[in-house]
Amino acid sequence: MTASSVYIHVPFCESKCPYCAFKSALKGEGDEELYIRTVAGEIALRSAETGRIETLYIGGGTPSSLSVDSWRALVDVIESSFSFSDSAEVTVEANPNSLTEGHVSLWREWRVNRVSIGVQSFSPGELSFLGRLHTAGQAADAAAICMEAGFAVSFDLMFGLPGTTIRDWAESLRRAVTLRPSHISVYQLTIEPGTPFYEKKFNLPDGYGQYRYAQWKLPKKGYCQYEVSGFALPGCECGHNMNYWADGEYVGIGPAAWSYVNGARRENAASLAGYARAIEEGGDALVFEERLTGERAARQAATLALRTKKGIDWDAFKSRYGEVFAEAIIRDLRRFPDTLVISDERRTALSSAGMRVGNTIWSDII
Ligand code: SF4
Repeated sequence: MTASSVYIHVPFCESKCPYCAFKSALKGEGDEELYIRTVAGEIALRSAETGRIETLYIGGGTPSSLSVDSWRALVDVIESSFSFSDSAEVTVEANPNSLTEGHVSLWREWRVNRVSIGVQSFSPGELSFLGRLHTAGQAADAAAICMEAGFAVSFDLMFGLPGTTIRDWAESLRRAVTLRPSHISVYQLTIEPGTPFYEKKFNLPDGYGQYRYAQWKLPKKGYCQYEVSGFALPGCECGHNMNYWADGEYVGIGPAAWSYVNGARRENAASLAGYARAIEEGGDALVFEERLTGERAARQAATLALRTKKGIDWDAFKSRYGEVFAEAIIRDLRRFPDTLVISDERRTALSSAGMRVGNTIWSDII
């Protein structure tokens, strides 16, 4: 079986945001060349795992921190190794401070049709608190040049920052909606072990109200909540992420990238040096592999599907994971009130209120 979704991880950032636990680092001398060379090696090794590509997502890290020359080399490698469906969704993540006209023009000539911009906030104080290198004005400019180039644009926005109120969050959402991206992802600030924020012992506000505000406000502006973090104008949902939530397979390329192929979840070595060494020695860069089967696989798939507004389609679920596991999950879900979990004979999904307490529900059925 081959995957029709590919993720490529770019492991570089221009600085490390103090809340970030993603696998990324500042570039050292020669790192960019080493990265491009070894990603080419991994793609050559693994291209047989992919069929015709429906979604390609190049994320990070900060893909726009790669020079335009490196991008050209990456595009050549991708084009010579993968074949794409005519309607393939190709997304690139970008930060407002590193995105240049050169990137935009190369991406437009190539097959990029979606750019996800790490906006996070439109408040100067919040951007500075988050250690972001860009201003609100740069985020608006980045959105404008991407839209002018014809890309669908998505914004990442963060809520639940210390000392913030619903009024502060409402202002960031208002500014975002005014710029009319086709997609908005909202994330609550979480304090992860190992990050500089972890040492600070912040008092975080209860994010519930701010999240609820987004659920109320964004649909009024035409953005339908199709997933726990995702709001989109009609037809602008992120196909790549929908494949994740549908328990679809994908090939992950690059340091720290995860793959899900032939029923196995696999993780590549996180450090560029370790990843490059493994690939240059002609092997794979795997450091972890897990194959979920039986009830664990079914529960994992149900949890993923419950992130989406569509929820679980029981006919499809039963034919893939079996009636017995489906019935066990249905019994577990019945314990939640129908204000949180909505079911009919064909589907089960979380209500808007259910999405607000999604973590509790998912951890109960996983
Ligand atoms: S730019 Fe993104 S990936 Fe890089 S450190 Fe900041 S949050 Fe993390």
